[in-house]
Parts: sequence; C-alpha cells; structure tokens
Amino acid sequence: TTPLLEVKNLQKRFLASKGWFQQPTYVHAVNGVNVTVNEGETLGIVGESGCGKSTLGRCILRLVEPTDGEIVFQGNNIRTFTKADMHNVRRNMQMVFQNPFDTLNPKLTIQHILTEPLIAHHIPKEDRQSLIEETIEIVGLSKRHLSRYAHEFSGGQRQRIGIARALMLRPKLIIADEPVSALDVSIQSQILNLLQDLQEQFSLTILFISHDLRVVEHIADRVAVMYLGEVIELAKKEELFQRPMHPYAQSLLSSVPVSDPDEKKERILLTGDLPSPSNPPKGCKFHTRCWACMDVCKTEAPLLKEVEGRMVACHLYSMAGE
Ligand code: SF4
Ligand code: MG
Repeated sequence: TTPLLEVKNLQKRFLASKGWFQQPTYVHAVNGVNVTVNEGETLGIVGESGCGKSTLGRCILRLVEPTDGEIVFQGNNIRTFTKADMHNVRRNMQMVFQNPFDTLNPKLTIQHILTEPLIAHHIPKEDRQSLIEETIEIVGLSKRHLSRYAHEFSGGQRQRIGIARALMLRPKLIIADEPVSALDVSIQSQILNLLQDLQEQFSLTILFISHDLRVVEHIADRVAVMYLGEVIELAKKEELFQRPMHPYAQSLLSSVPVSDPDEKKERILLTGDLPSPSNPPKGCKFHTRCWACMDVCKTEAPLLKEVEGRMVACHLYSMAGE
C-alpha cells in the first residue's frame, strides 16, 4: 500500500475572542492530526459535530489555511505551496460537499457548471464536450440534463452533479464532507454505491467525512475517530466496529443499531457535555466523560500509538507496553 496523502501533525487554530484586557483565546479545531490515506482506499473520518473533521478536510485542500504541520500529497508538502501551485494540485484533489445546492450556482446550466473546471485547468476546447458528456452519464444522468439549471434537480440528482463536477478533471483524491447527510436514506445508498463504482472505475482514493456511523460502515475501508480536534482511534473498519478500543469510540459505536436482532448491544451513554473546544480539559481531552479515567489521564495527554496493529490514544493501552 502506497500512501497518496500523509497528514502530519496538522494544526488549525482559530482566534475565538479577543478583548481589551484579555489574552486572546483560540480554538484548536484540529490539534496535531496524523493520518495516512493509501492509494485506492476509503478512509472514513467520524466524530460528533465540532470535532474538527470538516476543518481537517478543508485544511487538506487548503480551503482553510492550516496553522502548522505537513500535508504530503503525492510526495510533496503542499502546505507550503503557492496559490498557483495549489491550483495545479486541485486538479488531482477535489471536494464533494454536503449540500451541493449551496455550491452549484443556480443561475448556471449544468453544461456551464461542468465546463468551469475544464477552463480553469486549460483543458483544450476540442476535448471538453466529450468529457462533459461522458461524465454526466457516468454519474447516472444524461446529456439532455446539461441545458438545465441546478434548481431543477432533486437533492440526489444535485449531488450527482456535484460529484460530476468533482470528477471532471479525473482527480486522484476526493474529499467528501457529509456527502449524503442532506439526503433521504433511500437516496443515500444510491449515492454511496455511485461513489464506490466511481472509485473502482477511476482508482479514486476517498477521504469520507461523516457523523453518521452507518454510512461510514457502508463505505469505508479504515476509519479514524476524532474527538475535540484529535484522532483518538484509527483502525480497519471491521476491527473498529467489532471491537472499538478507545472508551470514546466504544460509546460512539454503541449507538449504532446492530443488524442482527439476536445480538444484544449495550448502549454506553456518556455523562457530561462535550467540553468547549476553546477551553478543552487538560490531559486526555476525554477524561471529563470517561468511566475508565485514571489519575494520569487528568494531567498527561495520551499519544496516538500502535496497539495490536491499530492506533489508539488512551492510557489504558499505553500502560501495558511500558
Ligand atoms: Fe479514558 Fe484515560 Fe483513556 Fe482518556 S486516556 S480515554 S481518560 S482511560
Ligand atoms: Mg461538519
């Protein structure tokens, strides 16, 4: 397995407030994330809203500028690339958004929307129309849709258009942020299956961001679980869903309904609220809600370390090997 993307110690701090006599306060939306995405795989990123998963996705594309760290894509650290070099990178790295309607200009025809990226990346005029027609059909629509406007389509169709636009330049990596969360459940699986077909057809690598564990279980090969800006567990999907190791991952996974009705699953309910990201707890950020909390957890932040072939950031496991 070759990594297509390596995110190293990525940080994003936002200025949260600044008063006359106060120290400025910052939100660490992404706090030292390390993940590798291998060529051809789908890496799921899960966590509650506010855990930093969307910011992470946007930082990788530099739609949001990271504060620190490295983004190594196809061997280059693109975090320090100029705007012009980043423009070239985006040919190979595209984003699919949750609500394509927000990002599809309603005043433009689909033909126009799909032509834009081709012009921006200097695809010769004589090649454009065949690419557009091929792509609209690949996503399950047809040539006759090209003269219509985005508002004339249903949610599922709009997401197909959003995917077509992302696919126009035949990128290597797609970052999909909650791509089916705005859709009816019946439409969700159609779009997920489409993404899987496209992945095979174009050898795509997908970073799939979602709060919905059921959706991630459907599509991901490996899954990273985030909590307050940090990855707390990263494992193969089957391993994570069968036996989550981090207490937070255990509670999150316990809320997923099991498909087998005979299988009993105990729901682990968390006590306490999600701490404020501008004032996170010291030590392990999960310690205020963790039933396994030990003294060390209140002062020392556990690092993401390899445990039984997967990655976990929890003192319960780091103790054993030391
Ligand atoms: Fe719980 Fe401690 Fe593990 Fe954090 S490090 S999840 S507080 S046991
Ligand atoms: Mg989000």
